[in-house]
Amino acid sequence: MSKQDYYDLLGVNKTASSDEIKKSYRKLAMKYHPDRNQGDKEAEKKFKEINEAYEILKDDQKRSAYDRGGHAAFEQGGGGGAWGAGNSGNFDDFSDIFGNIFNDFMGGGQRGRPNAAEMNRGSDLRYNLGISLEEAYSGGKHQIQFRSHVSCSTCNGSGSKTGKVIKCKSCNGSGRERMQQGFFVVERTCGTCGGVGETIADPCPKCRGQGSIEEKRSLNVNIPAGVEEGTRMRITGEGDAGKRGGKSGDLYIFISISPHKLFTREGANLHCVMPIKMSTAAIGGSVEVPSIDGSKVKLNIPEGTQSGMQFRVKGKGMPIMKSGRFGDMIVHVKVEIPVRLTQTQKDMLKKFDEACGENCNPESQSFFGKMRGFFEDLKKR
Ligand SMILES: [Zn+2]
Ligand SMILES: [Zn+2]
Repeated sequence: MSKQDYYDLLGVNKTASSDEIKKSYRKLAMKYHPDRNQGDKEAEKKFKEINEAYEILKDDQKRSAYDRGGHAAFEQGGGGGAWGAGNSGNFDDFSDIFGNIFNDFMGGGQRGRPNAAEMNRGSDLRYNLGISLEEAYSGGKHQIQFRSHVSCSTCNGSGSKTGKVIKCKSCNGSGRERMQQGFFVVERTCGTCGGVGETIADPCPKCRGQGSIEEKRSLNVNIPAGVEEGTRMRITGEGDAGKRGGKSGDLYIFISISPHKLFTREGANLHCVMPIKMSTAAIGGSVEVPSIDGSKVKLNIPEGTQSGMQFRVKGKGMPIMKSGRFGDMIVHVKVEIPVRLTQTQKDMLKKFDEACGENCNPESQSFFGKMRGFFEDLKKR
């Protein structure tokens, strides 16, 4: 198994400076990068080889070991070089290296040319998900359906039929356009290539060079128990597919909770207005109150309960996220005055009223007392 000389692979001679090696490696890495040579096995092999060579030659110690012992210096483990069996085909590593090259070349720097990976990133998507209060209570999976751009299967997302790219004609590959504005020359991102500096030679017919097509998708979303109105959930990488191998955008899910028939939410607490019979309010008794978990709770109404009184049922509110605890349910009592009474019923109430002494209505008593005082004070003036 004869391996090609590392210096030959990188096209430099043995006395090359580390800068020369770096420069040459970058040029070759760009040329043979898998993103630009989709499906080309030769290019992939070459890309691995130059990476292996660069791994050694960029490091002064490894380089001098190589100079002294050749390939044998790195083969004692039986695992091969840096891009041996274990590593080959690990695409993350490839794109990392590619990303770094782009950052070095175009990032933040001197010419302000945009990062191609960032430029081609897919759009973020927003999905408004309406759920019921019961779903917010229990949490769990919720299937959503939406349209988004997915990577084109015909061209593998490259947007190109053959993988060939050509220098952008509008900007001559610089990614920038120059425009005369009065006395000034203004530079801006090239509108034709979006700043990338190159365009596709032969667009894929299925996606018309976009690298992605719109499709209906469905996704299972995990709703956390106790989720609050307006919560924003981010699902990384589920947005639109990137253009020509760019990263996918993210999917943002905005939760809104529909109003409930019985309960109003306030933080982790639930409020419920509960009508009770006049007689129950007067003599006391037990009533059943609905609970958000689907059960019924017995609530003791003490005698003499008035409209507007509140009763707290511990732990029957909403789950408090990530705590294992629950809020409370607060029952607001509303005493219902009987309606549509028959004559007999009215007569009975009249009799009841006569039987009631003044003691039975202390609030009315005290109010009339204050009223009397008020009018007497007026007369004294
Ligand atoms: Zn395509
Ligand atoms: Zn251009």
